[in-house]
Amino acid sequence: MIILMRRGCTREEVQTVSDRLTEMGYAINPIFGVEKTIIGAVGVPEYDKLEAADQLRGLSGVEEVVFVSKPYKFVAKEFRAEKTVVDVGGVKVGGDEVIMMAGPCTVESEENLFTTAKAVSEAGAKILRGGAYKPSTSPYSFQGLGLPGLQLLQEAGKRYNLKVVTEVMHVRKVEEVCEYADIIQVGTRNMQNYDLLREVGLTRHPVLLKRGMNAKLEEWLLAAEYIASAGNENIMLCERGIRTFEPYTRNTLDLSAVPSLNSLTHLPVVVDPSQGTGRRDLVGPMSKAAVACGADGLLVEVHPNPDKAIKDGAQSITIQSFQKLMPELSAVANAVERSIPLPLKV
Ligand code: PEP
Ligand code: MN
Repeated sequence: MIILMRRGCTREEVQTVSDRLTEMGYAINPIFGVEKTIIGAVGVPEYDKLEAADQLRGLSGVEEVVFVSKPYKFVAKEFRAEKTVVDVGGVKVGGDEVIMMAGPCTVESEENLFTTAKAVSEAGAKILRGGAYKPSTSPYSFQGLGLPGLQLLQEAGKRYNLKVVTEVMHVRKVEEVCEYADIIQVGTRNMQNYDLLREVGLTRHPVLLKRGMNAKLEEWLLAAEYIASAGNENIMLCERGIRTFEPYTRNTLDLSAVPSLNSLTHLPVVVDPSQGTGRRDLVGPMSKAAVACGADGLLVEVHPNPDKAIKDGAQSITIQSFQKLMPELSAVANAVERSIPLPLKV
């Protein structure tokens, strides 16, 4: 890191900062300019870099501390040059194929879930989505079916040859959700629930880590680092929109995050255009854009009758729309040298 000293700082202040850096294990190189002094600090001290920077910022004479390397390690591109391919029971996320994950926002009933699962599977989806434990903004709205929801997801997945992704909200439920789901989803509201991240990190289960609605890319990658540093490297990141001043869409889908993450990390990147826009009419266009800019997968809300959906109907597309969208996405994937294979019609 580089420590920029304030204009007019004293030799003593530079010495104090230098001594502190040496104590922390850094090799230092101060440069005394005509107007300003900077101190270069290199080495790999056994010290938390962010904490070290905070301490240094508090020292007299310090103007700013700038990092030259990233605060995350395991998830950084520098750590592993080749892309991570997360193997979800044979479905590979991060390979040539763009993996389609589709299903209702929440598991409502056996009939709705099975109808949706059958249709999305026949259209070429590989993974069934659906919430059994739902994070609801209001304590009075539907909280999900819980365990029976997980059981339905597992059954539907088995019947229609789909892997299952569903959210886990609490550390005490990690084991249970792992038993029924192939991918455990950490939702936007829990991206910075560090106890949950550590617990998920102790499993070897594939994880879909959604972006916190207010999270910067670096904070999101540090959340992924919690999981990776606990031993679980089967992580997929999922862009799902962030909060901005724009009320037209529910969130602002940050598609620039996709190529940005592809240069910052080796982890696969999935895009959720449903939470990302909150609007059914935008799901198709944003899905195509996501594939075009390098997404490794899409997470799309599909419902047999969105107008009657218990949750997120406004952003859920119909089965017919999904069927129509798949060949369009497949064409976009081909254009960027990826693939979305379409099942042969019989
Ligand atoms: C969801 O996928 O239905 C969901 C609640 O996602 P998020 O955590 O991104 O809001
Ligand atoms: Mn939803």
